[in-house]
Amino acid sequence: MTPDRLRIAMLSVHSCPVGKLGSKDTGGMSVYIRELARELGRMGHSVDIYTRAHDPADDQIVELGENARVIHLQVGDVERMHKLVLYAHLADMACSLENFRKGNNLQYDLIHSHYWLSGWVGRHLQGWWDVPHITMFHTLGAVKNAIGIGEDEPELRVVRERELVSECHRIIAATEKEKEDLARYYGAARERISVVPCGVNLSLFRSVDKETARRHLGFNGSSIVLFVGRVDPLKGIDRLFMAMPGLDRERGVRLVVVGGDDECQPEVERLQSLSQSLSIQDSVTFAGTVRQEELPLYYSAADVCVVPSYYETFGLVALESLACGTPVVTTRVGGMESVVLQGQNGYLVSDNAPAHLADSIASLLSNPDARAQSAEAIRASVSRFSWSNIANKIVAEYTAVLGTQAAKAS
Ligand code: UDP
Repeated sequence: MTPDRLRIAMLSVHSCPVGKLGSKDTGGMSVYIRELARELGRMGHSVDIYTRAHDPADDQIVELGENARVIHLQVGDVERMHKLVLYAHLADMACSLENFRKGNNLQYDLIHSHYWLSGWVGRHLQGWWDVPHITMFHTLGAVKNAIGIGEDEPELRVVRERELVSECHRIIAATEKEKEDLARYYGAARERISVVPCGVNLSLFRSVDKETARRHLGFNGSSIVLFVGRVDPLKGIDRLFMAMPGLDRERGVRLVVVGGDDECQPEVERLQSLSQSLSIQDSVTFAGTVRQEELPLYYSAADVCVVPSYYETFGLVALESLACGTPVVTTRVGGMESVVLQGQNGYLVSDNAPAHLADSIASLLSNPDARAQSAEAIRASVSRFSWSNIANKIVAEYTAVLGTQAAKAS
């Protein structure tokens, strides 16, 4: 029988759920893990999230909330490690985790791993502990390679992902598209994949009065187009830049780019030089990484938030913007087709051309008061993505997998 209070070992080896968001490797997946763990803890389950110590200042245990904590394990040097270097330390990670578990007399009912590196560790633990292993990929190496933007993913990753697909007990995908990609590129059996969308923190992401938000951030006068995310070539910020000159000529439009720390500097420099060649450098503000607690001000100050990505697994930023009542213009990536309702809370561009992004942005900027929906209605369009709804769906998956495993064992 499935226990009412599940003991969950969550694995997030390469990216820390309490790390700096908007930096090179820390974005939506970390938010997902942190928010899901908090919600599961509130529901009475207990969640330990295991990650690598990324900073010498990291405490070994960080409480996230009721029944949920992050456990930092010392694996390799405490500094940023390239993912392939980290790969060589995964056996250490599995052993340290097992030592910690034994030393603290912990038992888990299931493993929930995130990303292929954690999946590798989870594959070993599932055998040692004889418990089900549920995995989420967040991004897929083979799909990134098929898109061909940014660094190529090594064949090693694709091979390990394929093994994980066949050996884990269940895969949770964020969208039907991800499910199809898993079937197409990895031969995954569709009946082993469940689709559960991502969530948004509706208490944090609320609208703030636009003028107050703008004054606070020092933005005045012009219309504001916002980008929020890791500054990575796959995010398509270059396409958004290319969409700007048309808008710029029409009226004063400021593009605010939130995200990107020192490690993203090469990409920031590439974008800065693109802004110069497009003569939009005076209309672009690089705000750097911003703490999530401050982001409602940015979303509320903006007239439109743009998700110009070449690839997203879901796209949390769109949910956050909509929760703050700000419409979204997006390419057809990740979960956007289920989130953005054409002409109601934003626009999905028909192809990914900068000119079409510009048309959609312009139609929202030209007459903000004539928007099809009010800020309240825009927020209401994402209320079904509350973390409590999403966590309930995830628990239903855990329960189903535990039930199947118990039936097999009897
Ligand atoms: N984010 C943040 N500060 C920043 C940039 C991004 O807190 O400076 C957060 C943002 O709120 C969102 C996440 O990082 O929750 C990005 O998630 P998304 O799914 O949009 O992109 P991913 O990082 O998964 O590619």
